[in-house]
Amino acid sequence: MMTITTSNLGFPRLGRKREWKKAIESYWAQRISLDELHEQLNALHKENLLLQKHYHLDSIPVGDFSLYDHVLDTSLLFNIIPERFQGRPVDTDLLFDIARGNKEHVASALIKWFNTNYHYIVPEWDNVEPQVTHNTLLERYEFAQSLNVEAHPVILGPITFVALSKGGTQSFEEKVETLLPLYRQVLTELVEAGASYIQIDEPILVTDDSAKYEAITKRAYDDFAEAGLGDKLVIQTYFERANIEFLNTLPVKGYGLDFVHDNGYNLAQIQSGYLDKEKAIYAGIIDGRNVWTADLEDKKHLIETLLDYTDELVIQPSSSLLHVPVSLDDEQLEEAIVEGLSFATEKLDELDALKRLFNDNDADKFNTLQARYERFNQQDFKNAEYDFDAVRTTRQSPFETRRVAQQEHLQLPDLPTTTIGSFPQSTEVRKQRADWKNQRISDTEYRTFLEQEIARWIRIQEDIGLDVFVHGEFERNDMVEYFGERLQGFLVTKYGWVQSYGSRAVKPPIIYGDVKWTEPITVAETKYAQSLTAHPVKGMLTGPVTILNWSFERVDIPRSRVQDQIALAINEEVLALEEAGIRIIQVDEPALREGLPLRSEYHEDYLQKAVHSFRLATSSVADATQIHTHMCYSQFGQIIHAIRELDADVISIETSRSHGDLIKDFEDITYDLGIGLGVYDIHSPRIPTESEITSAITRALQNIDRSLFWVNPDCGLKTRKEEEVKDALSVLVEAVRHLREDNLEETS
Ligand code: GLN
Ligand code: ZN
Repeated sequence: MMTITTSNLGFPRLGRKREWKKAIESYWAQRISLDELHEQLNALHKENLLLQKHYHLDSIPVGDFSLYDHVLDTSLLFNIIPERFQGRPVDTDLLFDIARGNKEHVASALIKWFNTNYHYIVPEWDNVEPQVTHNTLLERYEFAQSLNVEAHPVILGPITFVALSKGGTQSFEEKVETLLPLYRQVLTELVEAGASYIQIDEPILVTDDSAKYEAITKRAYDDFAEAGLGDKLVIQTYFERANIEFLNTLPVKGYGLDFVHDNGYNLAQIQSGYLDKEKAIYAGIIDGRNVWTADLEDKKHLIETLLDYTDELVIQPSSSLLHVPVSLDDEQLEEAIVEGLSFATEKLDELDALKRLFNDNDADKFNTLQARYERFNQQDFKNAEYDFDAVRTTRQSPFETRRVAQQEHLQLPDLPTTTIGSFPQSTEVRKQRADWKNQRISDTEYRTFLEQEIARWIRIQEDIGLDVFVHGEFERNDMVEYFGERLQGFLVTKYGWVQSYGSRAVKPPIIYGDVKWTEPITVAETKYAQSLTAHPVKGMLTGPVTILNWSFERVDIPRSRVQDQIALAINEEVLALEEAGIRIIQVDEPALREGLPLRSEYHEDYLQKAVHSFRLATSSVADATQIHTHMCYSQFGQIIHAIRELDADVISIETSRSHGDLIKDFEDITYDLGIGLGVYDIHSPRIPTESEITSAITRALQNIDRSLFWVNPDCGLKTRKEEEVKDALSVLVEAVRHLREDNLEETS
């Protein structure tokens, strides 16, 4: 019987209680020195390594731990420094400045890491002088050795690194060629230091256009093999299937493949005989991106199958565990639910259970974990029946009819003005919320505070002269967590943080069971706000697609089912708001576009299901109730048809940072529903001038019917200061007032 070994691709940096974030932010705030920062981070890195060792992994990754982002680490390793930051020593301060910007220079761009909610710092190639500055990876590797940790270095591969970068005049191939000797140097030093293998991450090879990278990939890995590195390299892919027939032509030790998110294609290719038996398979069999205990029985069969096709099988998570929280140990949750959960360390325990089963014929841990898995899946909270067909997915009348019914009582002026929902989350707002959560103030005291804040902002909106008001969302910590805490089927953990970008972490709610609405969530605040003004107040909700995308989703039933369950819950809330007399209801879907699957062959299906859920959530209202939606991005191109199919009466979208793109999208389709293009960038504290706003509006009106056009900022205003908000919105209202006057003159 062949034995198997276990490995890991990456561990969460954050620490059990976000120690990583705290250390880094303390340094930024100058509360600790650089030496103290390094001391604290080394301690955390050590803890991470020893924690993994505890689960008997045969190899533990190093190089995954970072001060900010692993892509940025790679840029620094090879001296790919943005031009504006060049000429300084390559050190920790430079790293933070590139990531965050400083007084003189803007930060490098942040982009979503494939289809995850992690964001990396985009490498910039303009006028760079690539060279190995300092082999930090070697340092980390030696650190692991000093702790007696059996480790393998992890490095982002040259093809993916170049594919994720921008700038420079060289071709893709030239950039890779430039890097090859540098990679060779770093890799050779690691091998000389004793690394038995190096995990070289090339996730770009799972994307739509992976074929176009094949020639240069072959060139790069042939080059490494010539330097004698071939039998030390494992090309690691994840998040989707790879072209195994192609990978097999590369002279390397083995391949890391994702057997969880590949729709079955990786296994099918192996069974078709595309892989030579002497190549090692680093099989990603435990979901690295979700929080559920694995069906170990199922994994056992997968391992048995794979053993027929390789002489060396290593089992590991499907991707880095960067995308899940560290451990369940510190949570206080119901046992019936805990049984179904698995964070980073629990996943490593699952690997250990499988290894014991195969290598030592020891089924104890395997059986215990499998029993837990099975109990969890039989729970009542996971097996409810829903009547999805009983809820409308089409409004009663077409837009043209609805529009008349809505205008009859909304009586909106030419170019109506509004905001996206949130007003500043001031220190006071956050303090009151924390005090209430920690029971330092009573429900009544908290409610009174919220009402005062709402009333104050209703007056501010009156003074500024906006048309459609909002209550301000002061009660919400986060647009998804807030609903997660109030819907059945969601679990909000205490320490379930995952890194989003830099020191910013999010705590996605966990959808562990059937989702149900039990009582009104937003009605009290909205109704109160409406009682203070004659202007319409918009009810503000988060849509089903966004709630699902920003949560840990169930995988025991189809994703679209979960999304529709959430949609039914939101529909109840929509109806409760309507019942309470709210005439405009906004259902935000900022995550709709970013949830697009990695491969385009799945896009249409995703979009159709998103449209279906949104319509399930919003179609039951009367014609006279106006449904809004909001999205904070503007590259609509490929999804604009789906946006139209949402059939929202009004959509507000971000445009100020990429106005040109958006206008172009609108040349290809005539958008014939209400639309508000953000007329200023809320991400900057700068107050826009009237002429900037006016020209943004007039440019948009070249492509959009004036009677459909709304004027609003790009996104919610919660991160801005009160004075900034008042000033910017006053300019916006003033610009609209002048445009209205001009229009009257022209038409009279
Ligand atoms: N209504 C939300 C707000 O204004 C929308 C946030 C978002 O688009 N991400 O804060
Ligand atoms: Zn937004």
